[in-house]
Order: sequence, then structure tokens, then C-alpha cells
Amino acid sequence: MKLSWRPLIPIICALGILIAPFTGLMPDYWVTLFNYIGISSLVAIGLVLLTGVGGMTSFGQAAFVGFGAYTTGALTVHFGVSPWLTLPASLAVTMIAAGLIGAITVRLSGHYLPLGTIAWGIAFFYLFGNIGWLGAHDGLPGIPPLRIGAHALFDPSEYFVVVWLAVVLAVTATQNLLGSRIGRAIRALRRSTRAAEAFGVNTAGAKLMVFVYAAMLAGLAGWLYAHFQRSVSPGPFGISAGTEYLLMAVLGGAGRVYGAILGAAGITVLRDQLQNFLPWLVGNTGNFEAIAFGAVLVLILQFASNGLWPILFGPPPAPTPPAPRDDRRLPDRPLPEPGTPLLQAQSARKAFGGLVAVNDVSFEVQSSRIIGLIGPNGAGKSTTFNLITGVLPLTSGHIQFEGHALQAQTPQRAAMLGLGRTFQHVEIVADMSVIENVALGAHLRGSAGLVRAILNLDRAEEALLFANARRQLDRVGLADVAFKPAGTLALGQLRLVEVARALCLNPVLLLLDEPAAGLRVGEKKALARLLREVRSEGISVLLVEHDMDFVMSLADRLVVLDFGTKIAEGIASAIRQDPVVLEAYLGGVS
Ligand code: ADP
Ligand code: MG
Repeated sequence: MKLSWRPLIPIICALGILIAPFTGLMPDYWVTLFNYIGISSLVAIGLVLLTGVGGMTSFGQAAFVGFGAYTTGALTVHFGVSPWLTLPASLAVTMIAAGLIGAITVRLSGHYLPLGTIAWGIAFFYLFGNIGWLGAHDGLPGIPPLRIGAHALFDPSEYFVVVWLAVVLAVTATQNLLGSRIGRAIRALRRSTRAAEAFGVNTAGAKLMVFVYAAMLAGLAGWLYAHFQRSVSPGPFGISAGTEYLLMAVLGGAGRVYGAILGAAGITVLRDQLQNFLPWLVGNTGNFEAIAFGAVLVLILQFASNGLWPILFGPPPAPTPPAPRDDRRLPDRPLPEPGTPLLQAQSARKAFGGLVAVNDVSFEVQSSRIIGLIGPNGAGKSTTFNLITGVLPLTSGHIQFEGHALQAQTPQRAAMLGLGRTFQHVEIVADMSVIENVALGAHLRGSAGLVRAILNLDRAEEALLFANARRQLDRVGLADVAFKPAGTLALGQLRLVEVARALCLNPVLLLLDEPAAGLRVGEKKALARLLREVRSEGISVLLVEHDMDFVMSLADRLVVLDFGTKIAEGIASAIRQDPVVLEAYLGGVS
């Protein structure tokens, strides 16, 4: 294997930075600047996760820096509490504030979310500036320095160690998180919420978790800031600071953890240099920094919309999932006896306004059977899938699955019950590797949460999840592309990735929406073989497919829809000769 030198660059840079203040070569001015870079990096790392990965743009992150800074400021100045004891207090206050604000904010969609963050970003700036106890607009002076024993950390190069240790810990925790079960759920939020939900991810909970995590990193930054600056005032916690933090995350490469440090360095140094340079250029009047930053943002969006990091250091290396240490496997759920009734639709109806997409359709799926659901485009097949899997509520009628009523259910519940699905329009996280996409299917089969992920205590479970994902990829014949970014695969291959992901759920019933579309002849044969194998294992399949030879050769029974109405049901040979079906569908095809 060819060794690449590119991944080493960040490590070498990091070592260089860490040693620099102690060589005597770095003036105090720069050491101080690097402390500010480190503090800002913490905020930007949180934003990389929130905005770059989770897709939630926040302009208000500086407010959480303020929560951290004011908490320790007030406790140390007014009550003489030791700064080390105020650290958990700062984090706790930020966590509670973020939990409350996030519970309201993350529910907003589209442009309302960033607008919401601007609103509370401004609100908290004025709040900090109007509480007399917090020093109002003049701020709170006299915050004590951090101490180790009797030694106070006044020297910027000593503080440097504390700040960058925090950065190293934050980077490690965040990388661990991104490489975990929860991390995959978070990474799916932005690219494919539908897929995340279909495999049991509580998307609202995951969004709130990311929001609180990012805020706590900002709170930690605030705590460090307060004891370095030794005073706090509202200025650095307003909306313009919030915008700068966002700019850092975007400049470095939203979505890349190390990019946050690069972006923080870029923006902090740029601001510093502009403060020297702009007065000389344009005189002392006006706030021209904002204009300069605006110009930088426009340039990034024009020429490097993924930020600087990918341009400088290339794409991320493929993650290497842990291998299981013994031959343990995830426990499989017991499957019902072949032939038992599994899914029953009774007069299921879905109307979109005046359009009846599914018109009082009834049918049954028994276990260990393949049922074909066919009909012309617009017949209501995908809508039927969405009714069964809880994506859409029924207008009227009933659907039962193993005795559970599926009325008013959620996609997450459908996943829990063992309904594994694929999508007609593939729902894949393009920038995640193929095997990670498949492992998302096993989300409900793991239990490691945020804390276990951050502390890297989830390795044994991850090994089992990935071994399972690997096995399913083998079954669909894609093991050799397991570590490629999913976005590089052809459409036909992505359909097979979706089949593997649905199998990873350990389903009782597989719902496949046009899985063979875009597949080559050989791939179709392999898929048919796989579906027969799956059936022989006791899993049922509800199959929507336009390739009549494919579906007729596989299905035990067929249900034919036309304009939302069931027009026929029976075995393949009968359906082929049914005059109603020939008229509505097959006549036009063959
Ligand atoms: P099929 O999968 O059989 O091709 P669909 O179930 O996708 O058909 O669509 C059935 C009908 O319902 C179509 O006329 C389609 O335009 C309509 N439809 C599907 N989803 C929606 C929606 N979310 N809102 C409005 N109409 C919809
Ligand atoms: Mg469809």
C-alpha cells in the first residue's frame, strides 16, 4: 500500500504549535494570539458538528461562550469560588441553557433555524448587558487567574498548555463521537433524515444532543476565556462574534474537525492583521472589519465551498472499523413460522387533498413469502410503503403488523417492529463510507450513547455492528467497495447498499421499492438469488418492481394497483392473463 504523507501534515503542524511557545522563538504577542485561536477553536469544533455535520446553522454560538464566561465570572468574583470548581458549574449552566433553547430551536426547519439562532443570539447579548449583577455593559472585572497549587497561570505560554490541552481533548472526543453509532445518526441527519428515521434514529433527540454538545464546547471556551482575559463584558458574546465563529467553521471546512482549528487560526489572525492594517488604509472611522469578513465569506463560498481543509489536505482517510475479537454475533430476532399472517392492510386509504393515492386497499403478507406490489407509475405503491412504515398517516382504514396496529405510528416504531425498507429515490449519506451507511441499518441493535462514544468505550459493540454490516455487504456483492465514500457508487450499486442496510436491521419484513431499477442483468440475477435466500431464512418481502420477469419469477403472490385501487391479486400465472391487469398495466409494457 502506498503511504501518503498528507495525513501526517496536521500532526506535524500540531506538534510544531505545541512546542513553539517554549522555544523562545515565539513572541508573547503570538502566544497570546494562539491562546485566542485555541479558545475559538473549541467553539468552531462544536459548530463543525452542529452546522457542518448536523446541518443546523447557528449564528448564536457566542451566547453560549457568554454563559460559560459569566457563570465562572460571577461565581469567582461575587462568591470567591475556586475557578476549578466553577468549570463544572459553567458546563452545567451552558448545558441547561442549551437544552432549553435547543428544545425550541432545533424544531425549526429551513431558514427559520438560523433566523432563530440570530434572534436569541441578539437577545442574550442584551441580557448580559442589562444585568447589573453581571456588570451590565461595563462588564465584570477582577476575575482570578487559574491556579495550580499556589502557582497562578499568568504567563500566556503556561495558559497555552491549558488551552491546547482542552483543544486536543475536544478534538479527540468529537472524532470519537463522529466515528460511533450516534455519530452515524448525526451524520445522516443532514443528508438523509428519512433514512435515519427509517432505521430508528430519534432525529429530534439526535439534533438536540448535537446542539447541547456544541454549546458545551462553547461554554468550556467561555470558561477558559474568562480566566485568560480576567474580565468579561457583553461585547465578545454578541451576534457579530457568533457570525465570526460560524465563519471559522465554514472557512476551515464545515464538517471537518481539524478544519475548525484552521478556520479559527485564519479568522483570528486575519482580524488581528486587519486591526493593524485597516486604520492605516481607510482611516479610523467605521467598522470595516465586518466588510472584510463579508468579502472573505463570499470568496470561500465562491471558490472553496467545502472550506480550506479539503483543498490543503485532501479527502478524509477511510475509517477502519474495529474487528470483533471472537466470533460473537449480534443476537437475531426470532422469526414467525412460515405462513403466519404478518401484515394486514384493511381498506387502507390515503388522500392528499382531493387526490386519493391509496383507495381502500386490502391485502395480506404472510411470513416467509415474497409479495409483489405492481402497477403503473402513480398507482400508489410508494405511498402504500409510506403508510406501512409510518412515514405518512393513514386517512382511514387499518394496517396491522404482527398484531400491532400501525395507526399514527412513526418510522422509528416501524423499524423497532422489524420493518426494514429501501427507498425508490435512494436515501444514502453520500459522504459516509458504504459500510457506515449499511451499519446505520443496525442502529437499533446497538445501545452505546453519547458518553460511551466520546470515551471510546463502544468499541466492542461497534465491532459487532460492523461485522454485521460487512456480512450484509458480502451478501449483496459489494464487499470490495465497503470503504469507498457511498457517493462514488453507481445508482444500481446504491440500491444494493440500501438492501444491505435494510437487512442489517434484522427485519421481519423487507419492503423494497424498485430495487432492481438500474441494475445490470447479472446484478439482477444475484439480487433474485439473495431474495430467495432471505425468504428461505423466514424473512418476508414486499416487492415493488417494474421489471415483470424479475418480480413474476420471484413473487409468491402479486397485488396489482391502478390509480390507487387494487385491481387484482393472485399468483403470477393468473395475473399475467388477467384481462383487467392486461388492460391497465401489462398490455402497455410488453
Ligand atoms: P407509485 O409509487 O405507484 O408510482 P406513488 O405512491 O408515488 O405512486 O404516488 C401515487 C400518487 O400520489 C401520485 O399521483 C402522486 O403524485 C401522489 N403523491 C404521492 N406522494 C404525495 C404527496 N406527498 N403529496 C401529494 N401527492 C402525492
Ligand atoms: Mg413509487
